[in-house]
Amino acid sequence: MRAPSFTHDVIIIGQGLAGSVLSITLQQRGKRVVVFDAPLPGRASEVAAGLVNPVSLRRTVLTWRASEMLAIAGAFYRDLGLQYDQVFWHPMPLVAVFPTAQEAGIWQLRTKEADTGRFVRMDTVPHPALDALPQPYGRGIIDRCAWVDVSRLLAAHRHELRSSGGLREEQVKADDILRYEDGIAVREAVAPLLVHCAGPFAEVHGLVPVKGEGLTVRIPGLELDRIVHRGVFLLPMGNEVYRVGATFKWDDVWSGPSEEARHYLLDRTERLVEREVEVLDHWCGVRPASKDRRPLLGHTGPHEVVFNGLGSRGVALAPWCAQQLCAHLYDGKELDEEVRVGRFSG
Ligand SMILES: Cc1cc2nc3c(=O)[nH]c(=O)nc-3n(C[C@H](O)[C@H](O)[C@H](O)COP(=O)(O)OP(=O)(O)OC[C@H]3O[C@@H](n4cnc5c(N)ncnc54)[C@H](O)[C@@H]3O)c2cc1C
Repeated sequence: MRAPSFTHDVIIIGQGLAGSVLSITLQQRGKRVVVFDAPLPGRASEVAAGLVNPVSLRRTVLTWRASEMLAIAGAFYRDLGLQYDQVFWHPMPLVAVFPTAQEAGIWQLRTKEADTGRFVRMDTVPHPALDALPQPYGRGIIDRCAWVDVSRLLAAHRHELRSSGGLREEQVKADDILRYEDGIAVREAVAPLLVHCAGPFAEVHGLVPVKGEGLTVRIPGLELDRIVHRGVFLLPMGNEVYRVGATFKWDDVWSGPSEEARHYLLDRTERLVEREVEVLDHWCGVRPASKDRRPLLGHTGPHEVVFNGLGSRGVALAPWCAQQLCAHLYDGKELDEEVRVGRFSG
């Protein structure tokens, strides 16, 4: 059976980072988009700290396609800020306080490597606020980091979608999706394409939900102007307020904020700053990660596509993924093999 006449070019389910960045990218291509979104408990983007860091701090190696992601993400969020007359992209160096002499040694080695060495260096420049932190093994710095104000971005885009009639603040159930030979209908919206951007709520082969928690804290007397990491990150928000995060948990992911995580984060923060720390907020969400830590993109049906698997680096990955997907859908480009959604099925 053929679909009733098309009301839009694309229907999107989910207005987290994936759905927002994709709908913006589609609109920039002149596509008529409608987004269905309901604020489900556990959604990831609303709580994301928004860090963009090209170096994995666990092993001091570059993250997947770091330079490409960083360049595309920076341009995307800066341009979007101009479009919405707001600032979303905040460049800010990240300082890694070495927990052991061995980690300091590894970092030192990495500064001499051709690829990682372009991003990391030892940090020996005096800095009163940083110098006051305990650091018997010294510190390193990654200059080209940033943070994105994700919740502000989502709110700005939500406002834009609402004013143009492109937002349906409703939860979509499986029965609401009607499949036709030439397209898809979700309630009164009809389009040749439906993109599922449901984050951790999706059922996609290879998707692994990972719980994350963080705190917003006040640290009287500490005014840092850069992100600091030692076990946890400390992201300065101004006026002695910081976001601290984040935990990773693979079981019981939908159970909400836990005392255990709060205690862990507070303990790490107190050890990092050796000062009194006042907790203002405790946040929690579920990351839509994948088994191999690559995004999940592509067709799952003739008129259905998935955009998921943003994991713990959604801010850096989302603009690149949206570009890839649009080039695949509208310019006939092959999707990169590493991100194809079908790689885990069958
Ligand atoms: C604690 C924490 C800290 C993080 N920090 C960072 C960070 O510093 N840097 C970074 O890059 N990434 C970070 N992340 C990861 C980042 O948040 C995710 O990669 C990204 O937000 C995923 O976006 P998404 O759109 O796929 O999913 P989500 O943000 O979960 O969005 C999915 C949306 O779809 C809606 N939805 C789902 N199903 C339906 C339906 N059937 N009908 C209607 N609506 C539906 C949901 O309610 C939600 O609004 C963090 C995550 C967590 C949990």
